[in-house]
Amino acid sequence: MSSVERTIIIGSGPAGWSSAIYAGRANLQPLVFQGAITEQNRLQGTLPLGQLSLTTEVENYAGFPSGKLREFLTTAIHPDRVAAMPPIEEHAHAVTGPELMELMRQQATNFGARIITDDIVSVDFSKRPFTLVSLESGTFHAETVIVATGARANYLGLPSEEAFKNRGVSACAVCDGALPRFRNKPLVVVGGGDSAVEEATYLSKYASKVYLVVRRDVLRASKIMQQRALNNSKIEILWHSQVKEVLGDDKAGMTAVKIHNSHSQKDIDYSASGMFLAIGHTPNTNFLKGQLELNDKGYVKWSTPFRTWTSVEGVFSAGDVSDDYYRQAITSAGTGCMAALDAERYLAEHGII
Ligand code: FAD
Ligand code: NAP
Repeated sequence: MSSVERTIIIGSGPAGWSSAIYAGRANLQPLVFQGAITEQNRLQGTLPLGQLSLTTEVENYAGFPSGKLREFLTTAIHPDRVAAMPPIEEHAHAVTGPELMELMRQQATNFGARIITDDIVSVDFSKRPFTLVSLESGTFHAETVIVATGARANYLGLPSEEAFKNRGVSACAVCDGALPRFRNKPLVVVGGGDSAVEEATYLSKYASKVYLVVRRDVLRASKIMQQRALNNSKIEILWHSQVKEVLGDDKAGMTAVKIHNSHSQKDIDYSASGMFLAIGHTPNTNFLKGQLELNDKGYVKWSTPFRTWTSVEGVFSAGDVSDDYYRQAITSAGTGCMAALDAERYLAEHGII
């Protein structure tokens, strides 16, 4: 058997890097599988560095204010305190998703994390040490494993949707809704569940109008959420409707959507500067089936509230792979920290460190 790692971390989003930073600082020398660079991963949005690498500015990650950093500091903080701080680089600016992820990866390597650019394709958690098989780099063994493989947003699969991603098309209203291109303009939200209603309600604070595109004649959302949508004068529900095409151009990005009504069989173009998908997420857990307890939607289950413990002792999970509710970078980073602390405690309790 090849050498046994103390901790293997699978995944390279905020959860994976935060757990690597904590595990590194605990001297566990974690080995991180950050995912493979394959066409399949590109197509499904699971290349290394996770979901944030697919976006532009990140405005809500604490500690990285948007706008020019210098400007923010000099307006938000008392001048006496600014004067007492080390000089700020003139060019410093708000963090983008890819920058934030590169910074996290660097921080993890600073504390001794080792990185392999590959996918884990199967695991055996029935025997200790655990066995992990990668796509191209062979087989690995570990005393503890942190699963931080995230989830991917579901998209409609239209070529025009792909063409306008980040230029109007988004799968996260909380992340992108406040951006200037979405303010005081009509927007489209696709989906009829709680997420869609929540996103439409949230966006109605910024947009001039929100079209909620629902494929059936009922909302799947809970009654209270349905009422919220129906009572909101800025939200118009388009029943029996499916987006057929996203319209726009290179300069303006997305400008409208072509919507097909299955009742009237008519297509109508609606002007909109943004389209937000809220048609569900898919957790990246295929390789875990039969090894860890998953919920009915495929998310890794925590066995105990406020612990990152899974159904197998010594295997922990963090971030969106265990969370179909909050799905934010900061919550993922938080649970990544928890998973590393849980792994460290497990190793100590079992006399391994
Ligand atoms: P992910 O970021 O999903 O990363 C997991 C990564 O692990 C995968 O991408 C892949 O590289 C790797 N991986 C997966 N499977 C394997 C495997 N089998 N083997 C090895 N590696 C694997 N949140 C915010 O808080 N603010 C924002 O502004 C914001 N903007 C967003 C914009 C977009 C377009 C999207 C899609 C999401 C946004 N989010 C935002 C949500 C945020 O990105 C996620 O909540 C967060 O990235 C989840 O982190 P994670 O570490 O759990 O997993
Ligand atoms: P969901 O409940 O699965 O709803 C997905 C919605 O997208 C459904 O309306 C579905 O239509 C629609 N849809 C799926 N594929 C589509 C496609 N290809 N084209 C058009 N429409 C499509 O997912 P969710 O809304 O993300 O909710 C996930 C979970 O989180 C739920 O348990 C929910 O209750 C919870 N949540 C709760 C809150 C809250 O309470 N505040 C907020 C957000 C989420 P059909 O109905 O026709 O299938």
